[in-house]
Amino acid sequence: MLFYTHLLLGVAMYLSLGVSGVDMLLIVLLGAILPDIDEGNSKINRWSGFIGKIATSLDRHRGFFHSIWFFAILFLLCLKFWQVKYGWALLMGYGAHLIGDGITPMGVQPLRPLSRFTLRGPFRVGGPAENVIMVVLVVFILTRLF
Ligand SMILES: [Zn+2]
Repeated sequence: MLFYTHLLLGVAMYLSLGVSGVDMLLIVLLGAILPDIDEGNSKINRWSGFIGKIATSLDRHRGFFHSIWFFAILFLLCLKFWQVKYGWALLMGYGAHLIGDGITPMGVQPLRPLSRFTLRGPFRVGGPAENVIMVVLVVFILTRLF
């Protein structure tokens, strides 16, 4: 899915799971866009400078950085050096990202390389269905807010 769809999925995830706080929202959103650091043309890749270049050189798009292992490492780092709630917030964002990429034909393999299990769906990235999904997400978010 595209950047804004991932953000909307992140907001929807945040509102659905009943967490609160601007800090939590921002970290959920970070988790929702972070996997695409492995894609050279993504916003998060360009924003992250040389770290993004390292990420693209380490593995293919929707590889390690789209796996649960990357977020397991981040979760453990949050546990050790930050706050456990931020680890959960990153995982929520990751879950939102997984849903977004998991409904596209390319799909995503969250357990790679341990398993080739692939989440896949019919909705093409940037296709007309993605626009419909975005509208549904906006409506969902608005109904949660008001
Ligand atoms: Zn992705």
